[in-house]
Amino acid sequence: MSDSKAFRQEIRAWLEENCPESMRSKAKPEEQVWGGRNIQFPSEDARVWFERCVEKGYCVPDWPKEYGGAGFDQKQTRIFQQEMTRLNCRPPQVNLGIWMAGPAILEFGTEEQKREHLPKIARGEIRWCQGYSEPGAGSDLAGLQCKAESDGDEYVINGSKIWTSYADHSDWIYCLVRTDSDAPKHNGITFLLFDMASEGVEAKPIELITGETHFCQTFFDNVRVPKKNALGEENKGWTVAKRVLEFERDMMSDMESTAVNSGQSPRSIGQKFLGDEDGRVTDEVFRHAIAKHEVQRRGLEMSQQRMIDEYMQGIGDPRIAMIFKYVGTEEEKSKYELMVKMAGEHSLGWGEGYTENEIQMTKDWMGAKTHSIAGGTSEIQLNIIAKRALGLPEK
Ligand SMILES: Cc1cc2nc3c(=O)[nH]c(=O)nc-3n(C[C@H](O)[C@H](O)[C@H](O)COP(=O)(O)OP(=O)(O)OC[C@H]3O[C@@H](n4cnc5c(N)ncnc54)[C@H](O)[C@@H]3O)c2cc1C
Repeated sequence: MSDSKAFRQEIRAWLEENCPESMRSKAKPEEQVWGGRNIQFPSEDARVWFERCVEKGYCVPDWPKEYGGAGFDQKQTRIFQQEMTRLNCRPPQVNLGIWMAGPAILEFGTEEQKREHLPKIARGEIRWCQGYSEPGAGSDLAGLQCKAESDGDEYVINGSKIWTSYADHSDWIYCLVRTDSDAPKHNGITFLLFDMASEGVEAKPIELITGETHFCQTFFDNVRVPKKNALGEENKGWTVAKRVLEFERDMMSDMESTAVNSGQSPRSIGQKFLGDEDGRVTDEVFRHAIAKHEVQRRGLEMSQQRMIDEYMQGIGDPRIAMIFKYVGTEEEKSKYELMVKMAGEHSLGWGEGYTENEIQMTKDWMGAKTHSIAGGTSEIQLNIIAKRALGLPEK
């Protein structure tokens, strides 16, 4: 038996034995386990699943063991993910630390920073948020103004960030600050890590159209941060920031599998609201639209798989990854447009008189619109593809 086959069998057997039945389905928002100082478990099974995974390093399987991971190489990580998907296992922990802060610390951190932060993320002890956007700096991120002035061994931070997802529930922030106002804008930025419990930090929630308060405006009033908390060199934070955006866009390119949603598909909605004849949606026009969606979705999945396979063989072109965030999030939006069209008045669900699934579909439809904004808008993605992948001139 090949090493890969034996590894797959070992993972499969472990998951089958250790993943509780109730953890083998997509989690609703209230069922997710966010790591952090105030970690809460919606059920005993969620706690058991989390603890078993932490013990094996499975919250971050590809991180080295000394930092709390399982030490899997790329191929093993892929097999692990495939086996998780096969059983429909929920992620044991969600945390921006796993997707973004941690990978950045692994790549740019000092040994001291790695030892301080990574095990806490792997064990779900600290929840992270991202302080990039400001009221005057979103797409033009390098224009950010939040200032960090030098004072001995510390920086003193003043300014504000906006759209900081879950800042009011997070323990630490990775934050872009201006440390040199005279340098060209990309060259005066530092990437800082600090505790949200520091004196002078305030996170004010902003209510969304869905009624939820996903993100905050975050204010910094003379917040003192040790200089050793800079990730990478002073004034060289733009390099780290761009890398983190790549991690974010990779994550967002696969919203179908990572998003929290009602689990309904265009096909199931069509069958339910338009009629079903032996598994076929009766309305011909919508049947074709559903087929088109399914073909596009499958095409995207296969292209992503191909990119990963080529990358593992060392023959891939990294520029290909740039298209996935754009295509994935636009596809997600059209999927929900199609679903609400087919559901008609049932897609107006907001309160009484609607089923839980109908209300969730309305929320998912509105929520999908944010995915083509967060992590860089679709227009910005097209600019990046034009410039960096296709090599087109800027003007
Ligand atoms: C759900 C969600 C979660 C978020 N979470 C976070 C977070 O945790 N931390 C954080 O820091 N930020 C977060 N953001 C903010 C996000 O990164 C910004 O909203 C995004 O980068 C766009 O910036 P903006 O909102 O300032 O829009 P703007 O930059 O003002 O853009 C407005 C419009 O102009 C277009 N536009 C701008 N420049 C160009 C150009 N050069 N060419 C063509 N079109 C252009 C844009 O595409 C957009 O349609 C989040 C956003 C959302 C929606």
